[in-house]
Amino acid sequence: MGFLDELTASVTGVSTAPDDLAAAATDRSGTTPDGLPAAVVRASTVDEVRRTLRLAHDHGVPVVPRGAGTGLAGGAVAGTGSVVLDVSGLDRILSMDPVDEIAVVEPGVITAELDRAAGEFGLRYAPDPASAAISTIGGNIATNAGGMRCVKYGVTREAVLGLDVVLADGRLISTGRRTVKGVAGLDLTALFVGSEGTLGVVVGATLRLRALPAQTFTAVAAYDSVAAAATACSELARARREPSLLELLDGATLDVVDRAQGTDYSARGTALVIAQADGAAADSEIAAIAEVLGKEATWLSAEGDPDRLLFARRMALPSIERFGRALIEDICVPRSRLADAFEGVGRIARERGVEIYSFAHAGDGNLHPIIGYDKAADRLPDAVREAGDDIFALALELGGTVTGEHGVGLLKRDWLAREAGADVLDVHATLKSALDPRGILNPGKGF
Ligand SMILES: Cc1cc2nc3c(=O)[nH]c(=O)nc-3n(C[C@H](O)[C@H](O)[C@H](O)COP(=O)(O)OP(=O)(O)OC[C@H]3O[C@@H](n4cnc5c(N)ncnc54)[C@H](O)[C@@H]3O)c2cc1C
Repeated sequence: MGFLDELTASVTGVSTAPDDLAAAATDRSGTTPDGLPAAVVRASTVDEVRRTLRLAHDHGVPVVPRGAGTGLAGGAVAGTGSVVLDVSGLDRILSMDPVDEIAVVEPGVITAELDRAAGEFGLRYAPDPASAAISTIGGNIATNAGGMRCVKYGVTREAVLGLDVVLADGRLISTGRRTVKGVAGLDLTALFVGSEGTLGVVVGATLRLRALPAQTFTAVAAYDSVAAAATACSELARARREPSLLELLDGATLDVVDRAQGTDYSARGTALVIAQADGAAADSEIAAIAEVLGKEATWLSAEGDPDRLLFARRMALPSIERFGRALIEDICVPRSRLADAFEGVGRIARERGVEIYSFAHAGDGNLHPIIGYDKAADRLPDAVREAGDDIFALALELGGTVTGEHGVGLLKRDWLAREAGADVLDVHATLKSALDPRGILNPGKGF
């Protein structure tokens, strides 16, 4: 019996229908695969994941793990002859412990759904990618996703205590623990977090929850230059303030939000900083934050409801996408170099003759330069691609990284090689061959 016959005989939920294959072949990066995968397996049990991998391992068939397919780096793109292993159907929250403050979940749970369920216990799942309403916990773990709250609560890695992982040959291992502390053995949990489906398939996770803050306050400040806004963010760090959110939007972004939403942010300044403080002392913290932000601001508001004040940030990407297509980049620089990063991106936009809208998780130095291009374009224009490369080069020049939270996937492999260097790539390859000797797991992705 051939591989597909064996697969169909031992696993339910196998599809070879062209529409299913096409839908499972790509993600939100817009990358076109080199052809269609051979099959999609929609796993409904851990045992099905194990059987699929065991068979693929025996036959040397490439497997592309998949959550919700919202990735922006091409990590879930599946090429000719591969099998897509979709685990989004494993979507139960298995338990939640309000004393230990942990949740045990399957990988297909939608991120925002876990956060909502934790809220019933006065808790929350802190990592909050902007895609929380559509991405899965498994995908978040595989990409080590970040979000706006990460400036205070850390990225996904900080929320993962333990994992159940099916290895390439079908073995199931459990890493980590249910306790907040614990140092027995190598930290395999951290190894799998951010491994983009190249080392194993996450089929379960023990996650750390946090207390819902008693109160949250927001301050917004506008500036007459993006440099002044970035400097104000650095000043917050110098003043040892602790925002729970710190976002910065440049003038191009404010303009496009105004055009799409009918707002008037641009009239207040050419850059906007939004900061929040949460917890029992949030009122005094936001007052201290507002004092620092206010020094150079052309407009400052420390009142109003948080959702309204966050509107510009939440609507930034939808507003850009309303007028065209967008290449979404994701560099991270040391916080002290944020102003240089904004300045460099502005220069690249002028030199390449492209429109770049930039906003940042400023507290983390994580900048999203979004390069807009024509809706009608059938492929990425050269100037856009070249501007993207210039942005990666800029990140490295400033001592940063080519991806703060979206991952390497298919799209940034060359740049990872430049960032990490040959010896680090060699260590990656050694780890990969120890865990996946036949190289079946998401080949060509990550490293
Ligand atoms: C509008 C929008 C906003 C976004 N905002 C953010 C943001 O703020 N922060 C951020 O970090 N990202 C963001 N993203 C990117 C994306 O949502 C995240 O990378 C997310 O973590 C992907 O989850 P997913 O379930 O869609 O994974 P997928 O796209 O299906 O997969 C992503 C990668 O993980 C692997 N994978 C998926 N599930 C598993 C598993 N169970 N085991 C092993 N490997 C697996 C895949 O092979 C692939 O390499 C955004 C995307 C969109 C479209």
